[in-house]
Amino acid sequence: MAVMTDVSTTSAALRSPASPQAVATVKEVNAEKLRFIEEMTSNVDAVQERVLAEILGRNTETEYLTKCGLAGATDRATFRAKVPMATYEDLQPYIRRIADGDRSPILSGHPVSEFLTSSGTSAGERKLMPTIEDELNRRQLLYSLQMPVMNLYVPGLDKGKVLHFLFVKSETRTPGGLTARPVLTSYYKSDHFKNRPFDAYNNYTSPTATILCADAFQSMYAQMVCGLCQRIDVLRVGAVFASGLLRAIRFFQLNWEQLAADIEGGALTPQVTDPSVREAVAGILLPDPELAELIRAECSKGDWAGIITRIWPNTKYLDVIVTGAMAQYIPTLKYYSGGLPMACTMYASSECYFGINLRPMCDPSEVSYTIMPNMGYFEFLPVDAAASGGDASQLVDLAGVEAGREYELVITTYAGLNRYRVGDVLRVTGFHNAAPQFQFVRRKNVLLSIESDKTDEAELQRAVERASALLRPHGATVVEYTSQAYTKSIPGHYVIYWELLANGPAAGAGAAVDKTLDRCCLEMEEALNTVYRQSRVADGSIGPLEIRVVRSGTFEELMDYAISRGASINQYKVPRCVTFPPIIELLDSRVVSSHFSPALPHWTPAGSEECSA
Ligand code: AMP
Repeated sequence: MAVMTDVSTTSAALRSPASPQAVATVKEVNAEKLRFIEEMTSNVDAVQERVLAEILGRNTETEYLTKCGLAGATDRATFRAKVPMATYEDLQPYIRRIADGDRSPILSGHPVSEFLTSSGTSAGERKLMPTIEDELNRRQLLYSLQMPVMNLYVPGLDKGKVLHFLFVKSETRTPGGLTARPVLTSYYKSDHFKNRPFDAYNNYTSPTATILCADAFQSMYAQMVCGLCQRIDVLRVGAVFASGLLRAIRFFQLNWEQLAADIEGGALTPQVTDPSVREAVAGILLPDPELAELIRAECSKGDWAGIITRIWPNTKYLDVIVTGAMAQYIPTLKYYSGGLPMACTMYASSECYFGINLRPMCDPSEVSYTIMPNMGYFEFLPVDAAASGGDASQLVDLAGVEAGREYELVITTYAGLNRYRVGDVLRVTGFHNAAPQFQFVRRKNVLLSIESDKTDEAELQRAVERASALLRPHGATVVEYTSQAYTKSIPGHYVIYWELLANGPAAGAGAAVDKTLDRCCLEMEEALNTVYRQSRVADGSIGPLEIRVVRSGTFEELMDYAISRGASINQYKVPRCVTFPPIIELLDSRVVSSHFSPALPHWTPAGSEECSA
């Protein structure tokens, strides 16, 4: 049994979708992929053992494994005895050297082809994950398993199209000349994606040129026009994460008049200037006054409930991740889609792609991902052990996890991460064959998240400290604070509740203080990490930060409320983030003034911040 079975769809027959031969081949390919899943999930431990041997075999000469004293061993027992668990901070000196141009085999025996910029940060900067050329094949393989599974639940998806909003983001170079970019940007720009054979199950309404356009507005506009023109063909609507799909809906709300005008005349707005995008759209955008009229009729009502199915009437489900931090968007997506099912198909990261959902049409609250044992070597640190630091001796194998227990995910990858703590907490919900299935519980230490940003408690604390210093000249200080990720509007934004203490008779009031509080919002944004600032500046996917000043005594009321619900008075700590509706209501009912960031914080794609390890 080959660990990395090649089940890619390169058959020439697939290039001509209509032929009976192609239909037969698609069926065969689907069956082959389902067999592959059965094989992988039935032989979890054997596959894992082989994957580890393969990884250690190819990385045996690396500086890192040599230092661990592996001495060429590729067996589990030696690996367990010699290799410690590692965090990003442990690996950073090695990663920095690779970024600076050291081409010796430091972490990986295969050349590092580029860096993937994670949305996880370290000291405010994106983590840089080294990757190698053949990881693309593994990612491609995992993608190729999704639709054969989906086809078991929703047949006929090969008879239409998918409106999937996909985007590339900016990329930079490390001082040593390696490209650094997000994993999806890397994938969309790869030959695997650009030169993919026709796939009836992944027939996008968006031409590749519109996806590859780096200008966020032009890309979104062009993808929206193409999606509208092919609205009857669309069988599923999606984006990678829920926040991305909501951004697309917001874009539609803001731009429907121009979109309708373009469709009426069959001519693309001059706002889209990219020649390759214009050329790609030209074949799809033809004059269609009827469609323009329909868009105007649906959008001018000002009622956006069910807009997705009103515009794309054949949509069977939303293809969008709503697990983890994205669960906060489920009610809004239900509103816009009239309650369509939401399919969370995949669980992946910059470090490694992990697995797929074998029951993609289940309710979001029941989503479990099955980790594919061929993707990397997976170990699990029980959360109780993780809470007290945790050491490698407590790690459990993929085949050894227990149903009902929670674990932190620890991975060893082909690209050279060894026993690396990803930071995700997963709960075992059951098994498919011998393969455990995991519910995504949470990302460790994430307090606030609107999109891919992840702000932890320490970052928020630092931001509050930095901003509150601006109040000192006004004789005011922040005595307590908490926060919420506000997602009722699109884009969502951070709301920080402040209770102030005025130190003098005239302190803490007046227009000057109001202005300063606005500046405090911006100062907090400046203090937040690069992913937050990029989302604010380049993507517009997070709105201006808001400070809501609450009246004196509010946080005491908060404590009284918690105690009335059973909290211990001795152990009570102010929650630094609130999600429970009655608490939010209490806070909001005590707001005396509210302030928004008046400008965008600083962020640049280039420069050292993106490239430094
Ligand atoms: P990045 O490396 O920036 O792509 O982020 C990867 C992280 O996103 C993972 O480690 C998870 O915390 C989160 N993530 C990815 N896929 C899912 C999913 N299906 N459900 C919940 N969280 C996810």
